[in-house]
Amino acid sequence: MGKVVNLPKQFEDFVSNNGTADIFQKVFDLEVVLKDSSPRYLDGLGLQILTPAAPSIRIKEKDNHAHEVIMLASNSYLSLTTHPRVIAACKAACDEYGFGMGASPLLAGTSLLHRQLERLIAEFYETEDAMIFPCGYSGNVGIISALCGPGDVVLTDAANHASIFDGCKLSGAKVKVFLHRNLEHLEKILKNLPEDQKGRLITTCGVFSMDGDLARLDEIVELAKRYNSRVMIDEAHALGVVGPTGRGTPEKYNCAGRVDIIYGTLSKAAGAIGGFCAGIASLIRYLRYYARPYFFSTSLPAPIVAGLIEIFKLMMEDAAGRDRLWENIRYMVAGLKRLGFDTGDTDSAIIPIMISDEGKLANFHNDLRYKGVLTNLVTYPAVRRKECRLRVSVMNSLSQEEMDRALEIFAGLGRKYGVIL
Ligand code: PMP
Repeated sequence: MGKVVNLPKQFEDFVSNNGTADIFQKVFDLEVVLKDSSPRYLDGLGLQILTPAAPSIRIKEKDNHAHEVIMLASNSYLSLTTHPRVIAACKAACDEYGFGMGASPLLAGTSLLHRQLERLIAEFYETEDAMIFPCGYSGNVGIISALCGPGDVVLTDAANHASIFDGCKLSGAKVKVFLHRNLEHLEKILKNLPEDQKGRLITTCGVFSMDGDLARLDEIVELAKRYNSRVMIDEAHALGVVGPTGRGTPEKYNCAGRVDIIYGTLSKAAGAIGGFCAGIASLIRYLRYYARPYFFSTSLPAPIVAGLIEIFKLMMEDAAGRDRLWENIRYMVAGLKRLGFDTGDTDSAIIPIMISDEGKLANFHNDLRYKGVLTNLVTYPAVRRKECRLRVSVMNSLSQEEMDRALEIFAGLGRKYGVIL
């Protein structure tokens, strides 16, 4: 035990020994590799954040050096994590209900606030009802595995989030992956399904989390109708950002009433933690009993729920600063494109900057931080190694000076690493 056998070279090799060794063997193997030649991209992962998610923050590097950076790595697109109304509601609920719920929702974990938030989410999406999950990841896993099972088929976009894939895996349904946003491929798969395979679900993200591009939802809904499939949308990065009033991809593509399952997270623009599902009342009733992460997991703490109620109220009053966010998104995308960076097909607050070489990405990301900009570093397992990238996320509270400064730093380093001319 603890002896290194056939040392793997890639990070993803530390997953399984296929039953040929003690299950801890890979744990010890990884330890040795990290000590010998830790991949440089790990320097930028797991840094400590010393201040709230704001345009300018302090971070602590792994060598304990603390410094200030412009924040281009937060999914709190609308800056609601620090909104005074949200903080005040959260503090008041802590006094009234305590710090945590101490029970799962169906046992003793549903307060007045939980139900109020669910009703607000249903009102926001104009659905009959909604329910909240303790986190976004478990929401996807719970919904898909509750609705689909052996004999059913789930059709899933190749760029969907890991939690969708994990929900599919857990469900035991057949999984068919269609090429990213390629509806010709999706239709080909649908066409070839056996007629008696009637349990069908198409799942797609509204905004894809690593690319920032949007699902062709209106066309997906049409295909679903033609081939008798249900549709589930993941609105994690679309809520509060996409659509004329921030009601997301179904609103943008005018098909809100034709999506069977609206799922989202409460952790991005909504600024906290949690997941939700909105749909017809009977669907929500079913999921309360059969979505296991709902049934078997402790409820979100009431102070978080109280803050989220304020956040949904702000979004419904259209007072959450979406217009300002879009000004900033357009400014950053235009600035990066002008410099010559490849930013893909983004149409959201997520801007990928394609690097495609992991070594270069690691150095670029490390230099960026030391020069004062924090972005997300994205490589395997979030995307394929050859599609590795920086992921910039835009907040509405960024000032023009901060964006200009960041663009200047991107320009210098882009040239240094040969990413732009
Ligand atoms: N879906 C998508 C598209 C996501 O990007 C994420 C978070 N990265 C999730 C679901 C899971 O959400 P959470 O972080 O709230 O668990």
